[in-house]
Amino acid sequence: MVVNLSIQKTINNYMLNIVLFGPPGAGKGTQSAKLVDTFQLVHLSTGDIFRYNIKNETELGKLAKTYIDKGELVPDEVTISMLEKEVEQIKEAKGFIFDGFPRTVNQANALDAFLKNRNAEISMMLALDVDEDELVKRLLIRGKDSGRADDSDESIIRNRIKVYNEQTAIAAEYYNQQGKYHGINGIGSIDEIFNRLSAIIVESTR
Ligand code: ADP
Repeated sequence: MVVNLSIQKTINNYMLNIVLFGPPGAGKGTQSAKLVDTFQLVHLSTGDIFRYNIKNETELGKLAKTYIDKGELVPDEVTISMLEKEVEQIKEAKGFIFDGFPRTVNQANALDAFLKNRNAEISMMLALDVDEDELVKRLLIRGKDSGRADDSDESIIRNRIKVYNEQTAIAAEYYNQQGKYHGINGIGSIDEIFNRLSAIIVESTR
């Protein structure tokens, strides 16, 4: 997608904090990489941070693993303080893409309070919509390629989708009430979906 120069300038002067939302396997990681390149944002994925800690066998990683292996959420207080520490380490940013966070209303509240303290706020939630059969299919393929344990077992995948429906999906309502929710069809080619996301970002920063 060609983002014309005047729009790019507007975006550059704008603190753009995006919550990229959607069920496991919706394509948040893939789209984040493209959004980071185009809009010069810092990508923060709680899943990636947990996996980094698991790989390095930190205390946080050991704790998170006990939940992740079952397809459950890591407790809010652990996740919130981890995320806040990550944000604080970044000295300069035009904005952030929060990927996999917030995953509960409690986390959304904490993020709002945290940003408010820094005179910032969430600009928008972009929510990728993908049906369950497609999610399971994508995650099983990802599990084969990546070796991620939580992607290799269909019952764990189904549990993650259940947890998403029961605990996470309502976070969308939280942003909807603030007028910040945008639903996007998450089925299509990577570029098609990226163009849908970019169009909303560009439109909202005009
Ligand atoms: P996906 O979106 O594909 O499920 P992620 O990489 O975002 O995967 O997260 C992997 C796992 O890490 C989740 O299933 C969950 O156990 C844990 N996790 C990630 N983010 C959070 C969060 N914000 N709150 C609680 N647990 C989380």
